[in-house]
Amino acid sequence: MNAFAMQEFISSRRDALIHTEEDFKGFCEVICKGQVPDYQISAWLMAAFLNPLSQRETAQLTVAMANSGQMLDLTDLPKPWVDKHSTGGVGDKTTLVILPLLAAMGLTMVKMSGRALGITGGTVDKLESVPGFRMNLTSDELISQAKLIGISITGQTESLAPADKILYGLRDATETVESIPLIVSSILSKKFASGAETILIDVKCGSGAFMKTLQRAIELKEWLEAIGVHAGRKIKAAITDMSQPLGETVGNVLEVDEAIRVLKNEVLSPSSARFRDLVVQLAGEAAVEAGIAADLGSGQALASRILASGQATSKAEKWFEAQGATHFSAPIQALEESTLESPVDGWVETIDAGDAGRVVLKLRGGRQTKADVIDPQVGLIIHLPVGSPVTKGQPIVTVRARQRDEADQAISSLRPAIRISPQPVAPPSLIIG
Ligand code: URA
Repeated sequence: MNAFAMQEFISSRRDALIHTEEDFKGFCEVICKGQVPDYQISAWLMAAFLNPLSQRETAQLTVAMANSGQMLDLTDLPKPWVDKHSTGGVGDKTTLVILPLLAAMGLTMVKMSGRALGITGGTVDKLESVPGFRMNLTSDELISQAKLIGISITGQTESLAPADKILYGLRDATETVESIPLIVSSILSKKFASGAETILIDVKCGSGAFMKTLQRAIELKEWLEAIGVHAGRKIKAAITDMSQPLGETVGNVLEVDEAIRVLKNEVLSPSSARFRDLVVQLAGEAAVEAGIAADLGSGQALASRILASGQATSKAEKWFEAQGATHFSAPIQALEESTLESPVDGWVETIDAGDAGRVVLKLRGGRQTKADVIDPQVGLIIHLPVGSPVTKGQPIVTVRARQRDEADQAISSLRPAIRISPQPVAPPSLIIG
């Protein structure tokens, strides 16, 4: 495709005409070769934002984006090949538990994960807080490790779906991120390039997520599943609550520690027990989609049984060791702590996930720009989930910070994010769509 054809590609989108598979292939090829100036790509993105792609076009774009770089070949690995992806949330350490759990259930998991950006955490940063844990495995290492233990994980490589990297950077700069077809092609192109046949997507919904409203989350779920049908992959999306942080902790070492306590079947706080329930429910969904359970009930029962048996723990220990970890833990240092206590008797009505995420970001527990360095030690401990009865003076949230004034300031910022009701409050469902 030359510059003239790029202009046609833009005008055809501007006029809401239909793109072909060949168009998308050509488009991804020229942008990856650096043959198209950013202003033309941006013009097409805005045209695609205003005249959204159809589902068929989105599937074609997704496949072309996946094919723009290296495609992992899993053919040497035992089936079923499963991947799990979260659209991102606050305190979302699900991958750390669900990967070894699903591997212990007999599924093969080869996963590429992302870094934290904004208020949402990233699996790469969480696992890098474990001494020695390598998140830069090569494709060969990914395959050989998964062959041995059924599980391997790495950070995103430059060679995976490079077209997405180019488009995502420009979407960010041109206010076109919010388009559902563009979001779907971005997420799924990376998943398709990673080779899995069954993909479980946890669409987080609420103040701590990318999708703030249920309506938008439902739209995203329907599109993700539909593009799977068009592209011949099994995609199951579940919409899960992100109105409050997930589990008991937010912050890298705290989250690794919580995930390991869940894997080890330790006695859990109500917040951690809620996180464990989500893992089991999602693992049940994955088991059904991968064809190892007949229905959700038996999938969840299987996941629960394997988790309780300790098989997921030993899988996780092997996994950590295989990726270079020197310990099956992330060291937690003593920091300054400040605790917010309930001012009254009542029930916890709100712990706003977005506000919690912003507080951790301000403590440098997250990344505002790609260049920022994260402090893995800082974070929050959520003592009670929404719906819990609480008495005056009972701890609700503890902040861990480097300096006392930072901890105190964080508590002041969190105060409006936490509401106590005089009436009983029903805990929100974990899976909401
Ligand atoms: N995550 C992605 O990978 N891409 C998007 O466009 C949005 C979320």
